[in-house]
Amino acid sequence: MQKFAQTCEAIAATTKKLQKTALVAEYLKSVSLDEAAVSAVFLSGRPFPAWEETALQVGGSLLWRVVAELGEKDDAELSAAYRRHGDLGAVAGDMLPQKTGPGLSVLEVSRRFREIAAARGAAAKTTQVRDLLARAAPLEAKYIIKIMTGDLRVGMKESLVEEAIAKAYGGTLADVQRANMLLGDVGETLRLAAENKLAEAKMRLFHPLGFMLASPIESAEKGLSYFTEAAIEDKYDGIRAQAHVSDGEVKIFSRTRDDITESFPEMPGALAGLPNDAILDGEIVAWEYAKAAGDAQQIVDEPPSEEGEQKATELGRARPFSILQQRLGRKKVSEKMLRENPVAYLVFDTLYANGKLLLDRPLRERAQILDELLTTKPNTNHHRVTETLRESQGKLSFDEEGSAETARIIRAPVFRATSAEDLEELFSAAQARGNEGLMIKDLDSPYLPGKRGKSWLKMKRELATLDVVVTAVEYGHGRRIGVLSDYTFAVWDGDKLVNIGKAYSGLTDAEIAEMTQWFLEHTMEDQGFRRSVEPKIVLEVAFNNMMRSDRHDSGYALRFPRIVRLRPDKLPQEADTIETVREIFARQG
Ligand code: AMP
Repeated sequence: MQKFAQTCEAIAATTKKLQKTALVAEYLKSVSLDEAAVSAVFLSGRPFPAWEETALQVGGSLLWRVVAELGEKDDAELSAAYRRHGDLGAVAGDMLPQKTGPGLSVLEVSRRFREIAAARGAAAKTTQVRDLLARAAPLEAKYIIKIMTGDLRVGMKESLVEEAIAKAYGGTLADVQRANMLLGDVGETLRLAAENKLAEAKMRLFHPLGFMLASPIESAEKGLSYFTEAAIEDKYDGIRAQAHVSDGEVKIFSRTRDDITESFPEMPGALAGLPNDAILDGEIVAWEYAKAAGDAQQIVDEPPSEEGEQKATELGRARPFSILQQRLGRKKVSEKMLRENPVAYLVFDTLYANGKLLLDRPLRERAQILDELLTTKPNTNHHRVTETLRESQGKLSFDEEGSAETARIIRAPVFRATSAEDLEELFSAAQARGNEGLMIKDLDSPYLPGKRGKSWLKMKRELATLDVVVTAVEYGHGRRIGVLSDYTFAVWDGDKLVNIGKAYSGLTDAEIAEMTQWFLEHTMEDQGFRRSVEPKIVLEVAFNNMMRSDRHDSGYALRFPRIVRLRPDKLPQEADTIETVREIFARQG
């Protein structure tokens, strides 16, 4: 562990990426394969491989107490050190007593991590953590704690570990990335690279893959300019979800790769009936079920037509995001919630089916496989899942078909368009169905996890824009660190300004520089990180949705607010009012 920690110190000492990866590559080659595999995971800032669900479940306060005890420091001393370092690992490196004798090995630390994860209760965990840190030299403890808290803070991330693996063992970076994506285990990836077997990496179900993302387009003309044949789908306003299904077991992952299965207890029952193992990509949407839903057909390859629209209507329709939102983040979903806020899973892609990884296949082929997957009769695994669910959820009841409180799995309708006019027509139909706009996808494109390219395009028009007055500003992050680029803004409530949101994107660097100067000269109160400013600057902001919220004093908040432009042509008195806000909120349903 000493050598690992020293390598981390060296990595932290350089800002150059190439040097960082060279240091890691050199280190990995200098230790045994077992140690290198574990170190690769640690260097990504994790105690366990990404795909594993094992978690240490050791909170910051437990670590804090153990460091205080071993370092024989009181709270005030520790707090002062924490303020200096901003990181508990670094505090431990500074405060723990020196050790003589052999330190810990990386493999031993890994074993101890597993014991800590397995220990039940705070007392048992504390004992284990104390034992581990008591045996570590201060520099080792520094990095053990950093791994436990999930961030090494040495400017290392998993993508750099992948580069180092390619450098150390040969194999292209693309091969390493692919293996790591499939396995979700950078240690296992390292082993395959060392044995020259990267091509043998197999898909590991139940660990989430990256999501393919879309680029915005401004006009229908642009929509068909990037590729020859496009599949057009509605753009639903829900949450992106990747479903893994195998042998009656189902898991659903969010865009942040969190397991959200528990928030949607009606989904597994519906998905378990798939005839084969699969990974599906789609959007979970609050759904208003149409009466004749049972007979609704799939819509595939439809040109814009009244008949197509009619069929789409028979599937039911999406309800606003605010309704879905009431279901998010809940562990237990009440029966009432299931009944009143039902959801549907609008599936538009498949990444894996029938034992085959489909990422490299063109969309037209994946789409066909998906169509078949969703029309084949359900198999009997279905019952197993509903049984499991009945146990875990207690109160839930499913009828034999599982339909009463089971979500619908709907193949997202696919339309065709050959002209900008077609797209415009589909676009208004999509909006009339309550959806955000359209997704335009290249039928010849592979599925690129985690990539935002021009193979998927999104076309949406703003719900509305608001003219608002800036009331407070903050310094930005990253590239925007020295400039005032985060703006809190307000609308009029009578003669009072009430805040409604905060946005930071949309202006050019030159505009931000100019605004920074202006805000510095027109600050009313400097609160350090935040300045309240004279309410003179008018912005036009766009947003996806409006919600009721007590975060701001207007009682509303905007979802995904972005600055469209500065409105120097408007006086602050001409900004929008709370009445307009209420109207927009009512209009969105
Ligand atoms: P945005 O969040 O505006 O970048 O738009 C991309 C998101 O739209 C995706 O991540 C999905 O959550 C969502 N979406 C809705 N409908 C579709 C669809 N038919 N295909 C792909 N993504 C969709």
